[in-house]
Amino acid sequence: MHDLTEGVERFRHDVFPAKAELFAELAATHRPRTLFISCSDARVVPELITQSEPGELFVVRTAGNLVPAHTPGPDGVAAGVEYAVAVLGVTDIVVCGHSACGAMTALAERHDLGSLPAVAGWLRHADAALARTAPAGGGPYPLDALVRENVRAQLANLATHPPVARALAARSLVLRGWVYDIPSGAVEEIERTGGTVALAA
Ligand SMILES: [Zn+2]
Repeated sequence: MHDLTEGVERFRHDVFPAKAELFAELAATHRPRTLFISCSDARVVPELITQSEPGELFVVRTAGNLVPAHTPGPDGVAAGVEYAVAVLGVTDIVVCGHSACGAMTALAERHDLGSLPAVAGWLRHADAALARTAPAGGGPYPLDALVRENVRAQLANLATHPPVARALAARSLVLRGWVYDIPSGAVEEIERTGGTVALAA
């Protein structure tokens, strides 16, 4: 197993010195422009695939890159979204799905999640995407289509959060939907909605 302590040592000695000036600036400054919402999947590394520096991405990661629609109760994802939009003033939110997503695969292949009640409950937030990709006559859902529809469904859920709705109305925020392909490294933009650009393919 990768030794995390060794990794920290390498970071301190080999990586940090080269960016010492940046980290000194970041010590008192937090102004990311993008809220990046991705799956918790270890193969999806937002800073790597966007080549972002420390301080540039405010990241929220959840299983299946799901964003529950707004409800009045406390919710960790909603808190992250609210802080990013209302306090940090991000101008972009990216919801990034990915190929071979375990959460989407479990839904597509109708896995029995009886022993994983937390996962089963959480994945209900993908119900809208499932409804849109339901295969005629049963059988497995088409995974690629489900991954894409799930990104679209989560963008719609995001828009129900009051700070997001306000920023969209003020044309100060753009919502973007991406799908990252693990074997090729390609990123496909499937959706872009917001005040500064028109709806685009
Ligand atoms: Zn995933």
